[in-house]
Amino acid sequence: MKAKKHTIELHQGDLPKGLDFGTSIAVDTETLGLNPARDRLCLLQLTSGDRICHLVRFTGASYDAPNLKAVLADDRVTKLFHYARFDLAVIERYLGIACKPIYCTKVASRLTRTYTDRHGLRDLCRELLGVELDKNQQSSDWGAENLSAAQKKYAAADVIHLHALRDKLDHMLARESRTELADACFRFLPTRARLDAGGWSDPDVFSH
Ligand code: MN
Repeated sequence: MKAKKHTIELHQGDLPKGLDFGTSIAVDTETLGLNPARDRLCLLQLTSGDRICHLVRFTGASYDAPNLKAVLADDRVTKLFHYARFDLAVIERYLGIACKPIYCTKVASRLTRTYTDRHGLRDLCRELLGVELDKNQQSSDWGAENLSAAQKKYAAADVIHLHALRDKLDHMLARESRTELADACFRFLPTRARLDAGGWSDPDVFSH
């Protein structure tokens, strides 16, 4: 598949008023690290799949972002994530909202691509879309005052393929009669994130 051109719009602290994201929106977060209790939310990426990727940057001083929160909390808009378990914990902690309904491409992948143990975003993009993702900026400083062009491009790449992945994975879920099981897992995800935040990440409550 040929790489499509996307427009990246960087916003400070909140989305502009009046954006319409339709019925499904791909979302990702970049933080200062992998511990939501310690590592703050720096950037939140969103796209409706219309080739415009919105990046909302936070300095850490304030997470008062009414326009963004309204979109994320809108029950009529499905939020697509890759590994929602982490992003939901971050969103809950820093934005203080319940983000739903949810679709997670990693969960869908685990429920369908049982022939592999490779469920990273990069693996999914390569196998299902024929797209090669560049993960070079993954561990860069997302708290920087000025994000580099490479960082912005990387951040956008984490959301722009999620709609296409969902289409492929939905087809595989239906093929294997696992759509209902996936839906039940997606509905449980906010609880899974709350368990992580509450100290039940490992071992979790379902462990032996
Ligand atoms: Mn990311």
